[in-house]
Amino acid sequence: MSEEERKDIGDLGEFGLINHLTNDIKLTQPSSMVGIGDDAAIIKNGDLMTVVSTDMMVEGIHFSLVYSPLKHLGYKAIVTNLSDIYAMNAVPHQVTVSLAISNRFSIAALEELYEGIKRACELYKVDLIGGDTTSSNKGLIISVTAIGSAKQEDLVFRSGAKPGDIMCVSGDLGAAYLGLQILERERQLYESHPGVQPDLDQQKYLIGRQLKPEARGDVIKNFQKFNLKPTAMIDISDGLSSEVFHICHSSGVGAFVEEGKVPIHPEAEQMALKFQLDPITCALSGGEDYELLFTVDESELEKIRFMPDVFIIGDIVDKKDGITLHTTGGNIHPLKAQGWEHLKGK
Ligand code: ADP
Ligand code: MG
Repeated sequence: MSEEERKDIGDLGEFGLINHLTNDIKLTQPSSMVGIGDDAAIIKNGDLMTVVSTDMMVEGIHFSLVYSPLKHLGYKAIVTNLSDIYAMNAVPHQVTVSLAISNRFSIAALEELYEGIKRACELYKVDLIGGDTTSSNKGLIISVTAIGSAKQEDLVFRSGAKPGDIMCVSGDLGAAYLGLQILERERQLYESHPGVQPDLDQQKYLIGRQLKPEARGDVIKNFQKFNLKPTAMIDISDGLSSEVFHICHSSGVGAFVEEGKVPIHPEAEQMALKFQLDPITCALSGGEDYELLFTVDESELEKIRFMPDVFIIGDIVDKKDGITLHTTGGNIHPLKAQGWEHLKGK
């Protein structure tokens, strides 16, 4: 290819790149029910559907060992994958863990990583059934694959939202991003003044949301208990706006998000102001909260009123009405799909 034809990865962005590389892939196996494009892939397995998702965490990109204890890191690597299985309204049963490690890690350090991995497997009732271990020149890379199952009729995709549906989230947003800001600030202080011990006790909630997130399997259980099937669902890994866009594009609809209804923890609100950030921007673009964003038919309003941890944040509208944010000041703006990458540079 000539220099002129060369396109940089950065021009396409993550989703553009995935699309560019995979848009000609055709599923040929009768058992491949859903391939690329949702939180997890679906394989028909007799009467049940097998649900598979994989994610990779790279040192220096997704975490820094300066402030991520290895135990938490192991825990987070499992939990973030389980979150994708729950996002299909499925239940995870197994995980595989693959590592690339450099020789700067001691056995004790890797034991700590596995302590976190085992703890998550125990709490979420999944079995670690395999993986791969290889060496890396420098950083640590952790790749986890999660496998779950669901009845076909229970599966929920990104593509099922329709105008009139109510849009909900399962918990407060923006805290994980603010936790990261605190940790980054401490890292910079530590690098310029080694020996100064940070006092992070005051910010336990925000830091906990960043370092040790939980996947909302309890919400999936509640759907069963209340006999409620969302019309569409996605987990919030990149930030609320970006996930609203994914649901809208997959479903061919628009959305109306009410700023005042987006749940933000009081500690997140205060910390945002300390960092001179707008709390709603952190909630919309922050990411890594691993809450669920889902839509339900309007006839289910009574049910969701009684379900714990359901926050109604807006409605699904016609595609022609676009994807908008109704601000507390009474204005209506187009919602911007900024993932956390956008904020990182600030
Ligand atoms: P999530 O944030 O829910 O983990 P991603 O944004 O990572 O999802 O991926 C979106 C979709 O693209 C998923 O269906 C995923 O399996 C698929 N995908 C991501 N990277 C690749 C790749 N390199 N090759 C094939 N499919 C990919
Ligand atoms: Mg996901």
